[in-house]
Amino acid sequence: MQYNFYPGPSKIYPQVAGYFQEAMELGILERNHRSKAFQELFSTTKGLLKSKLNIPLDYEIVMVSSATECWEIISQSFIQNKSQHFFNGAFGEKWCNYTQKILPKAEAISFGLNENPSLQSVENAELLAFTHNETSNGSAISEQFQKQLRTKFSNSLIAYDATSSMAGYELDWEMGDIWYASVQKCFGLPAGMALMVVSPKAIMRAKEIDESDHYNSFNFILKNALDNQTHHTPNIANIFMLNRLMRNVENISAIHQNLKKRKEQFFNELSKLEKLSSIIQFNELQSDTVFCLRGEKDIIRKLKEEAEKEGFILGNGYGGWKENTIRIANFPAIPNQHYIDLINFLLRFDKMN
Ligand SMILES: *Cc1c(COP(=O)(O)O)cnc(C)c1O
Repeated sequence: MQYNFYPGPSKIYPQVAGYFQEAMELGILERNHRSKAFQELFSTTKGLLKSKLNIPLDYEIVMVSSATECWEIISQSFIQNKSQHFFNGAFGEKWCNYTQKILPKAEAISFGLNENPSLQSVENAELLAFTHNETSNGSAISEQFQKQLRTKFSNSLIAYDATSSMAGYELDWEMGDIWYASVQKCFGLPAGMALMVVSPKAIMRAKEIDESDHYNSFNFILKNALDNQTHHTPNIANIFMLNRLMRNVENISAIHQNLKKRKEQFFNELSKLEKLSSIIQFNELQSDTVFCLRGEKDIIRKLKEEAEKEGFILGNGYGGWKENTIRIANFPAIPNQHYIDLINFLLRFDKMN
C-alpha cells in the first residue's frame, strides 16, 4: 500500500489508467490537432471545465505546456511596462525572477509568512501578480484580500498562479483576470500540460498590446483556441484524460467542501501533537490544499524515515525550509481514508519520539 501526499507531481486519480486506455482505443492520440475529432475534444473539454469548475462563460480557457510557460507568456503578452509581484515563498519569487529576465523593471514585493501582502507602495499598477496558493510553504491568499484587491485596483490586471489550487478550490474567478495551473497537482493528472483561464479584460489588454513575436504569444494561442485548435501539437493524451476526468468528478463546490472538512480534521488532530506544528498560524492564510509542518531537524529526519517504511510519501520542505519542514498535499485525488491513516501514523510517531 502506498500513500502519496507529495504536493506535485502528486497522486493521480486511479481512473486515469482507464482513460488512457480509452484514448488509445479511440485512436484520438493519432489524430492531428487540426482535425474535426480534435476540435470536438477541445471544445467539449472547455465546456466541461467551465461547468465543473464554475468558470464564468465570458472567460476563455487556453491550454499550454506548464505553469512555468505561463510565467513567460504573461511577461510577453500582458505587460507593456512593468508588473508588481507579491510573494512570501519560492514559487512567487521564481515567477518574479523569470519575469525580470524579460522585463527588467518588474518589481518584487515580498511579505511575511503570516500576513497579507502590503499594497501601500503600489502605484500605477499595470499587472499585479500573486501566488494564490504558495506550494512551497502552505500559505494562501485569503478571499477577503482578493476582494479588497479587486476593488482597489479595478483597472489593473490581476494574475494568480493557482497551480496547486485550481480544481481543488472553488475559485472566485472574477477576482482575477489571469489564472493558471499545471495539471500534476490538484487536477490529479500526469504532468505535461497547463491551463490558463483569462477574463475579457485580459483578452482586451493583450489585443491592445498586440504582441506577436513568439510561438507562444497569447494572441496567437487564443486565436487557435477560439477555433478549438492549439498553436502547436498539444498533449492530446492529457487533454483527453482531463475531458474524461471532468465528466466524472463532482462540481468544484462539493470537492472544495470535502477538502475543507479534511483540513479541519487534520488541524484538529495536529494540535494534539507535541513535535509538529503548522508554519502558518491563521486559518484564513492556511492553504486548503497544502499543509507545511515544522519540527526539529532531527524529528523531521526521523519522521521521513519512519514514513517511508510505512509507505507514506510526504513532501520534502522547500528551499530554506528543506530540513525543518514537511509538506502534505490535500488534493482531491487522495481518498479521505488516506488522511485518517496519515493522522494515526503521525499520532503514533509523536508519542514514540
Ligand atoms: C508546481 C508549481 C509551479 C511549477 O509548475 P510547472 O508545471 O513545473 O511549470 C509553479 N507555481 C506553483 C505555485 C507550483 O506549485
